[in-house]
Amino acid sequence: MSENILKISGLKVAYGGIKAVKGVDLEVNKGELVTLIGANGAGKTTTLKAITGTLPSCKVEGTISYLGQPLKGARSFKLVEQKLAMVPEGRGVFTRMTIHENLLMGAYTRRDQAGIDADIDKWYTVFPRLKERDGQLAGTLSGGEQQMLAMARALMCHPTLLLLDEPSMGLAPIMVEKIFEVIRDVSKQGITILLVEQNARLALQAANRGYVMDSGAITMSGKAEDMLHDPRVQAAYLGE
Ligand code: ATP
Repeated sequence: MSENILKISGLKVAYGGIKAVKGVDLEVNKGELVTLIGANGAGKTTTLKAITGTLPSCKVEGTISYLGQPLKGARSFKLVEQKLAMVPEGRGVFTRMTIHENLLMGAYTRRDQAGIDADIDKWYTVFPRLKERDGQLAGTLSGGEQQMLAMARALMCHPTLLLLDEPSMGLAPIMVEKIFEVIRDVSKQGITILLVEQNARLALQAANRGYVMDSGAITMSGKAEDMLHDPRVQAAYLGE
């Protein structure tokens, strides 16, 4: 039987009178790349924030377990200690730190200096632009460069589960391709990923399984490949 990394059951989130998430069930198994797609305002980011415990004060119901343990209310730094890394929408890099310092922050739970240095070198090889700008403040990077940095920083902790919120948003097509290439590589290395994306085609092409979210509810789920060929998904999310 496949090993459950993340299990969300009956998740409901309301911001005051607005019901943003209305009873979501979602699972991510070990080694899977699962994507959550849906239109603007469907509740995807709210679902990710419920996992990381970073919602503003609002009503949350249901259970979220990570590696078999309840996760509700966990603090962000505790998540990294549990090897749960998130790349939020808008990147969330430390703008007043250099690229190099951001990468070191991603590894703050690690003590293997040689391994940390080797990982930084690895990410500098994957993203040569970061290497060229090693000492530059992250706040001065372009959107695409910040996305590369946010991804590399999240991976510095060798996460068991990586949560990605709209990694392609606002990026030039060539950057989107690069970011997706990295997502596929990371997935091949065995890191479990939950990917929230508006670019449904790219997301489903990269993923093993997918969920469609609409107005706070999961309306469809299945193998990503089947979903790519589903006329309802094609009509609503793939522009066909
Ligand atoms: P997008 O792709 O546009 O980011 P999404 O699927 O991630 O959309 P959410 O950001 O989760 O959607 O938003 C779901 C609903 O909750 C929306 O109607 C949104 O307006 C509302 N919402 C989100 N954050 C808040 C907040 N802090 N206060 C009040 N309402 C909110």
